[in-house]
Amino acid sequence: MTTFSLWINGKAVSTANTFDVINPADKSVVAACPQASEQDLENAVAAAKEAFPAWAEKPWQERSDLMLKLADAVEANMVELSELLTKEQGKPQNGFADMGAGFETGGTLAWIRATAGLTLPVETIQEGDDLTIEVHRKPLGVVGSITPWNYPLLIGIWHIIPAMLAGNTVVMKPSSLTPLTTLRFAELANEILPAGVLNVVSGDGGIGRMITAHEDISKIVFTGSTPTGRHIMKSAAGNLKRLTLELGGNDAAIVLDDVDVASAVGKIFATAFINNGQTCAALKRLYVQDGVYDAICEGLTEIANSVITGNGMNPDSDFGPLQNPDQLQLVMDLAADAKERGARFLTGGEQTNTNGYYYPITLVADIKDGARLVDEEQFGPILPIIRFSDVEEAIVHANNSPNGLGGSVWSQDIERAREIASRLECGSVWINHHAVIQPHAPFGGIKQSGFGVEFSEAGLKEFTSIQTLHVYP
Ligand code: NAD
Repeated sequence: MTTFSLWINGKAVSTANTFDVINPADKSVVAACPQASEQDLENAVAAAKEAFPAWAEKPWQERSDLMLKLADAVEANMVELSELLTKEQGKPQNGFADMGAGFETGGTLAWIRATAGLTLPVETIQEGDDLTIEVHRKPLGVVGSITPWNYPLLIGIWHIIPAMLAGNTVVMKPSSLTPLTTLRFAELANEILPAGVLNVVSGDGGIGRMITAHEDISKIVFTGSTPTGRHIMKSAAGNLKRLTLELGGNDAAIVLDDVDVASAVGKIFATAFINNGQTCAALKRLYVQDGVYDAICEGLTEIANSVITGNGMNPDSDFGPLQNPDQLQLVMDLAADAKERGARFLTGGEQTNTNGYYYPITLVADIKDGARLVDEEQFGPILPIIRFSDVEEAIVHANNSPNGLGGSVWSQDIERAREIASRLECGSVWINHHAVIQPHAPFGGIKQSGFGVEFSEAGLKEFTSIQTLHVYP
């Protein structure tokens, strides 16, 4: 079994205590993971603090070149990283529509390279004989990154590449359920970066809490659940840390009567069940107008009946297990509530393989707002399909959620779809698609889905503060 270490000040650090990382496909132990102590965290923060001035002073281009070298290192180790991802996270190597582990490592590469090309030039907002005013961007210092278990490598990259490119140093904590790919990436990265620029400490929420309260950390970038986001906001108040919080979503899609059903069903299926539904901006509530309700249900059922859920290392598997037993239990509880309310199960609804945390692709029709499956984020392979007649009513239902991450409108009338999209309360809206993200398009939530954005120049700016320079000649 491969040995994993913390990465502090450019060195591998072993720990007295470890915890097991479980393969959700068969409940076997993938590896023993180091459990960081409070002292390890102190050492990591001290290393990041010490490395900060020299890193911040490096020319932007030098930091950008080092980021590109990280992408090369990921590329050279793609197979190993993809297999490790499948073993700790459960997602298939390729999977449905090629959106498995290869998609995550490939996306990691693409994201690093695109982000490395971003710059934050000085903005001159006034220039004249009497006065020149310029806006400069400065790094913040030490950034704390805390990541979840659904896309451990990709989400980690989304946090740390813009942070480091902008001149910050990092202390990162991956989810204790999926820490291994991140630790392996840290090993590769520490062969390239100066010591102390990227430190990784693995452990549970306790280490996360220490990071969010630490006086020498200037900013937290967090992706995870809304309740944890609330804890972080409180804990970060001590030294007024900057925050980017990417939290849960319960994205609604509104499908209108005039949709092109044949082209829509494949996209709806893929974006609802991407990563087995364990995706923040997956399509999670499907509102379909009367005229196409049956056709959409049939189209989705046909695809669902053709896919295979199994061990992600098996090339035939379209979908893997859920990542952990708590998430599986939540999905089963939501299904039980839907059954009690008389909803119609088009597929799935029963766990058939208990060797791992498997649950079949489950489509639930004739269900309404008020059922837990509609009102709560399922974060798993079960989709409620809600019928509507009146579009105004569908908009009210779509917005009747504490979350506001993404949403979508499906119609051949693009002008009408635009008008409806503009009324949805969410940070990203798609017309005739869902959950598709790009490195040059800002992405973030509103309401209880958090605040701040990632990606693009707008995301990069979140790792800087403004210094306004007024020059009187
Ligand atoms: P989680 O909140 O349970 O855990 C996320 C991370 O926070 C883990 O590393 C965990 O150890 C750490 N943590 C736990 N308690 C903490 C505390 N008190 N202080 C600091 N850190 C703490 O989330 P999860 O279950 O890993 O992820 C699933 C959730 O993440 C879903 O709700 C999903 O929608 C959300 N998510 C959002 C996005 C987005 O971009 N908006 C992306 C992916 C996932």
